[in-house]
Amino acid sequence: MLELKKDASLIEEIRQHEAPEYFTQCFRCGACSGICPVEKVAQDFDPRVIVHALLLGLKEKLLADDTIWKCSGCGSCIPVCPMDVKPMEVIKALKALVAEKDPEFALEMRFKAGRLARVNPEKCIACLTCVRDCPFSAPAIVPDGYAVIDPEKCRACGICVVECPARAIELNPSPEMAASLGGQDV
Ligand code: SF4
Ligand code: SF4
Ligand code: SF4
Repeated sequence: MLELKKDASLIEEIRQHEAPEYFTQCFRCGACSGICPVEKVAQDFDPRVIVHALLLGLKEKLLADDTIWKCSGCGSCIPVCPMDVKPMEVIKALKALVAEKDPEFALEMRFKAGRLARVNPEKCIACLTCVRDCPFSAPAIVPDGYAVIDPEKCRACGICVVECPARAIELNPSPEMAASLGGQDV
């Protein structure tokens, strides 16, 4: 049987990453899961389970795999929670904790989950098309002469991917996109 390590320090660490005030009040009613669009299409993604795993201190499970990165940040789970747990903000705090410990891993997970577009510097010709066209002002040209996309601003809309004349930008399908195309969860 799989043995899961528990680490009570996780709750304190999450508090230090702007976790919402009442996240420990979750009583697992499942309202968040019921409304979450990603829960409907992504294997292993369930906001209720994520909050519960946090309260149990299942640090390794939460921080080392790709599950939390599947959250789209749509916010649908926030108004339905009767205990004001704010699952989206809990997941955001978990991501911030991972990003603080291992920024490269966090970027890779965001990209893998289809939540972040990424520029190939070898192909970019610094034409500024993505800088102009991104509705969220996520790309910028860095001093080395290629575009870099700010992971905090990118909403993975895919506009830059389509518009880039050099085909320099990659974006994986999100779980919702994969499902709408009839494919498998990423
Ligand atoms: S913010 Fe994340 S967890 Fe909440 S409903 Fe949207 S996808 Fe689901
Ligand atoms: S649109 Fe493509 S080629 Fe132009 S700056 Fe952006 S990534 Fe580089
Ligand atoms: S995917 Fe959308 S939000 Fe992200 S950088 Fe490209 S245009 Fe901007």
